[in-house]
Amino acid sequence: MIKQTKIETTRRSLARVLASAVQELYAGAEIKEKKITENGFFCDFDLPKGKSISAFDLPKIEKKMKKLVGKKSAGVFKLTKIAGAYWKGDAKNKMLTRIYGIAFQTKKEIDDYFHQQKEAEKRDHRVLGQKLELFLFDEEVGAGLPIWLPKGAILRKIIEDYLYQELTRQGYGWLWTPHIGKLDLWKKSGHWEFYRENMYSPIQIDEEQYMLKPMNCPFHIKTYQNKIRSYRDLPVKYAELGTVYRYEKSGVLHGLTRVRGFTQDDAHIFCAKEQLSDELVKLLKQGLKILKTFGFKDYDIYLSTRPKKYVGNLKSWQKATKSLKFALDKLKLKYQIDPGEGVFYGPKVDIKIKDSLGRDWQCTTIQVDFNLPEKFNITYIDEKGKKQQPIMIHRALLGCIERFIGVLLEHCAGVLPLWLSPVQIWVIPVGTRHKKFAQEIGKRLQVAGYRLEVKDENETVSKKIREGELQKIPYLLVVGDKEQKSKSVRVREHGKGDIGMIRLNKFLEKVKMEVEKKK
Ligand code: ZN
Repeated sequence: MIKQTKIETTRRSLARVLASAVQELYAGAEIKEKKITENGFFCDFDLPKGKSISAFDLPKIEKKMKKLVGKKSAGVFKLTKIAGAYWKGDAKNKMLTRIYGIAFQTKKEIDDYFHQQKEAEKRDHRVLGQKLELFLFDEEVGAGLPIWLPKGAILRKIIEDYLYQELTRQGYGWLWTPHIGKLDLWKKSGHWEFYRENMYSPIQIDEEQYMLKPMNCPFHIKTYQNKIRSYRDLPVKYAELGTVYRYEKSGVLHGLTRVRGFTQDDAHIFCAKEQLSDELVKLLKQGLKILKTFGFKDYDIYLSTRPKKYVGNLKSWQKATKSLKFALDKLKLKYQIDPGEGVFYGPKVDIKIKDSLGRDWQCTTIQVDFNLPEKFNITYIDEKGKKQQPIMIHRALLGCIERFIGVLLEHCAGVLPLWLSPVQIWVIPVGTRHKKFAQEIGKRLQVAGYRLEVKDENETVSKKIREGELQKIPYLLVVGDKEQKSKSVRVREHGKGDIGMIRLNKFLEKVKMEVEKKK
């Protein structure tokens, strides 16, 4: 905490130094804004007519700043970029000149920052998505609306199949629900009142108004209400890979991690009061297990409490918050309280995963809801034959499939583990006379259930190997005379290079185990 305050003070004083340096170098420059950022600071300047500052001027300004700072310790800093910015962020106002800088306490920290920036650029999922042919965005289609290409679609399918297996084992029933629903439904659910800014405008169909769904909840409630429920049926668990549409400002859209239409790995659990804590424990365990399978072992947990705008009574909110705390404590999980960050219908637990660059990403969310069951008046019959109201839990484990894939790609720099790789193996014949053998191997691998390509184009082996490495294919199998004679393959493993000649049967055993263990 203390260190944080110290660096903030440093950044604040550097913003002042930047302002003075520019004023000394550009007479008449007016300072309109000075602020600190996550890693540094910026200043907005209104320059006199005819004067301008470009990126080429930054070293000169930096030099001046160093002179002004003198021998005083003012951390280590660097001016990084220059941009146009409207005064007070309003496009109606005058365009100003903004200069950004970064500042840290030590040289090592600033070096680490630049290293991380470079790594992040290399790992940018938007670049990887294009290179690996996973997805595309097209202006004519619309902003924030990805199209999944065959390789990306198979990656999604593998993830979805895995979730399908995991949840089916846990007793979930699967649903498919419509993408639109009547406006009145969203009024009843409270979304129209509390969530409208995230919803699109109504669509007129015949005499009725409909909304694109921002959430799947009301449809799952309708499914619950389709039958009379007894205490013996509880908990009732419904899961859906539900595509929802939420309004995001165009300025915040970012590749797959911020989109306007996305698929949640959504589920709702309807349970009796006395089952709530047990169900929450199960959900937390399951969420962490699934994240670990995808290689995310570090995370922070947040318990978000009642926001300013909410439905329901205070007693229900307190009860819900208490049961979430109970579940977290039972599993001995460390967590922080995020005051006022709950959803309008209930408190929630969020799990933010840390990627390999130490960045946080919100994924799992588990929300207790005493309110929607009341609004829709859903019930079950208890042991004494009396009507009772169940509690509803909303939960998404990966969160949104699009965003999760974006994070996953950056986490592993596009090098997906074998079980997730859209193309797992390339078979590369050395010469024309090995093509047939390569195709035979391809056939065997295909029958065994692997995703592969036989690369028999007339190009050199070295070129194909280079291309395979760029495409981050887990295994490249090169076959020539020796391999053909001994029914073997020469294996190149991504990141390891040539690991030698292996009999085909042995190779099949190796990859089978790797896929099964989801290594
Ligand atoms: Zn829900």
